[in-house]
Order: sequence, then C-alpha cells, then structure tokens
Amino acid sequence: MIKYSLKCDNDHIFEAWFPSGGDYDAQKERGLLVCPFCESKNVEKAPMAPSIAKTPPKVNANIPVTSGNIIPPEMHKIYNDMRETIEKNFDYVGDTFAREARDINDGIAPERPIYGETTSQEARELIEEGINIAPIPPLANPKKDKEIN
Ligand SMILES: [Zn+2]
Repeated sequence: MIKYSLKCDNDHIFEAWFPSGGDYDAQKERGLLVCPFCESKNVEKAPMAPSIAKTPPKVNANIPVTSGNIIPPEMHKIYNDMRETIEKNFDYVGDTFAREARDINDGIAPERPIYGETTSQEARELIEEGINIAPIPPLANPKKDKEIN
C-alpha cells in the first residue's frame, strides 16, 4: 500500500491509499479519482509532504493587547482594587485554571471563585463549553505575592 497526498483543482488536499503507484495512474486515467470535498475529477498528487498537511490550522483570532506604559493612573487604581478583591476572595489555582474551572463546572471540585493562568486556546475552549470565565488584567506575579502574605 502506498499513501499519496492528493490535490484537486480547487486546492482541496486529501490523502488516499493505493495498492501501488501504478494503481494511482490507472485510477486517474479512468477518472476514478474524485475529490471528496467538491467531487472534482481534476486530481493530482500534491507536492507537499504529508507531515506538512498535519500542521494545525492557523487561528485568526484577534486578541486585544496593549503595551505596558500607556495605562492611565486611574486604571492602575481599578486594576489594583480588582487585584486585591480577587486575591482576598478567590482561590489561586495557577496554570491548572482550565482543569479546575471544568471540575467546578462538573461538580467534581467544590464551587468557589478561582483565578489563575490559562492559554488563550484553553480560554476559548472553556467559553465554548459554556463555562463562565472572564479575563482579568495581569496580576503582578500572584504566586510570589501569596508567599509574602
Ligand atoms: Zn476539491
């Protein structure tokens, strides 16, 4: 068996197995190679290696960002108040946030407000799962602050 990456004239790329390289040619000649996406019979071997086809699709999400020094002083106070409230009342779970949020949602972990770090990918997944989370301004090294207290 031999596996080829194939490409149709609409740029759809898919993989197909053939008993041998000759069978690819024979099937192509008889018009048996059909794109599974658009049913085009204009199918050729894709020049790219299969490993390239496995690259995850690019995420086109625009995440709002700001650089550090343009935050007005009144915002600093809001941030600090928010931070104090969170540190006083919320459980810090660090980078296990996503798991902890799911466990609470599933009733496995005790229900309580938590905060921590997660990736934007995990945050998106949590939101898609209907778990209520909110981004907070970066807290200056919350772990270290807790040790001082
Ligand atoms: Zn196609």
